[in-house]
Amino acid sequence: MSDFLVDLSQHPVFRQTVKQLGLPLPMPEKLRRARGPWEDRPLADRAVVVFTAGGALGNTLATALAPAGAVPHVVGEATDLRPFLSPGEAFGRPPVHHAPGASPPEDLRAHGLVFDATGLRTPAELRALYDGLHPFIGALARCGRVIVLGRPPRTASQPAAAATATALEGFVRSVAKEVGRKGATAHVVYVAPGAEARLTPLLRFLLSDRSAFLTGQPWSIDATAADAPETPFAPSYVRPLEGRTALVTGAARGIGAAIAAHLAAEGARVVCLDRPGDETPLAQVAAAVKGVPLALDITDAAAPERLVDFVKDPAGGGGRLDVLVHNAGITRDKTLGRMSPEYWDQAVAVNLGAVVATTTALLDEGLSDDARIICLSSVSGLAGNVGQTNYSASKAGVVGYVRALAPLVAGRGITINAIAPGFIETRLTAAMPAMTREVARRLSALGQGGEPRDIAELVTFLASTGGKGLTGQSLRACGGMFIGA
Ligand code: NAD
Repeated sequence: MSDFLVDLSQHPVFRQTVKQLGLPLPMPEKLRRARGPWEDRPLADRAVVVFTAGGALGNTLATALAPAGAVPHVVGEATDLRPFLSPGEAFGRPPVHHAPGASPPEDLRAHGLVFDATGLRTPAELRALYDGLHPFIGALARCGRVIVLGRPPRTASQPAAAATATALEGFVRSVAKEVGRKGATAHVVYVAPGAEARLTPLLRFLLSDRSAFLTGQPWSIDATAADAPETPFAPSYVRPLEGRTALVTGAARGIGAAIAAHLAAEGARVVCLDRPGDETPLAQVAAAVKGVPLALDITDAAAPERLVDFVKDPAGGGGRLDVLVHNAGITRDKTLGRMSPEYWDQAVAVNLGAVVATTTALLDEGLSDDARIICLSSVSGLAGNVGQTNYSASKAGVVGYVRALAPLVAGRGITINAIAPGFIETRLTAAMPAMTREVARRLSALGQGGEPRDIAELVTFLASTGGKGLTGQSLRACGGMFIGA
């Protein structure tokens, strides 16, 4: 379903008229989304301004940006430029230097503003954020990115340093709300000491057009999920899922169908699962992605065993599963007093019970070491919603499950994360009353709903080798929803 306000906002005459009349109408920016598969230089020729601020990540940023095609602008001491010189030369992107406190050149349209706040330890030092970003925020391009990097508050040696690191989160959430109207987004990334190498893939993803609908989100990079001694961390950025087998539940339509298509486009062989009775749309999706259909009700008592058997079958899963996406989900809305026990049971069984049962079975047999597990939660589930006690309980349960399971499977190199979508344009949201739908779209930093492909992009990133630095997390994909975000 298309969003009339995003479409209308494209017309200069409409924008001008709304402005002149001073109408209180939000004018959401059309988000720039990536087309086609992953590419080597997703940031080709885009200016990314790095604020070094005495932080520890200069080398990582220098080796991440130029190979991705970005032109680095370094705001800092002249010596801070050094790590950027040889990658700049190798990739034909010589860095541009700006003295600390400098204003941006008039003609600079910065695609990214990346602030290394890992050196900030005290509330007074937070002033560096203001001093750096205040003059540059106006130079942020439409659909640009603001990324603040910090150390995880739990690794701080002093409470004041933990407070300073946590302050970054509040800062970024507000920046996200301020820049959202131009389609731009903001994030904070906490990098655990020793996990710096795992930051690069996330930086590339967040700075790229594949993260268009994600904003106001804290991300944590760590080395929890182990690397096998014979396979050091080596992310690939083109066809990152080549040779991998993925299983997507609820793949017949909506978000699941988009996930199947994106995983296949990056080289995965995709097993598409949906309910018996949905064989026709399921077969269509499976054929379109050159995958394998599997009609199975995931709440069936025999489903875990059937899944394991299917995965082991050479014609089915092909022997082992590398990516498991728990996307199947249902709503059975009624206020608590009016809810039937069947409604309660159905929502909890599909959204949570089946996730736990099938994951447990596949962890025993079928899932490869270094596998990626991704579960769909929901922002409206987490924030709570009238008529959704069953749905919210199940979707919050998913958050607890990934948090608890992550450390238990980390030794095998397996990661598990949840994605909490906000308002996504699917048949689920098309069925909402028109007024509720309109409010749900607009009450967010980006002022619009997301598309199934926005969720699919994040799933694909988490499924890739480069997603290994993230585990146990629940990541909102909600355009910066004002409620429950
Ligand atoms: P959808 O209804 O379009 O698709 C869900 C799919 O899951 C359907 O094809 C359905 O047949 C399948 N399914 C349901 N029960 C099943 C079972 N027992 N066994 C096998 N398959 C089953 O929904 P969607 O909007 O694409 O949502 C996908 C996921 O994202 C869900 O988990 C949902 O809760 C979550 N989500 C969606 C939104 C949104 O705005 N659309 C927001 C937050 C979370």
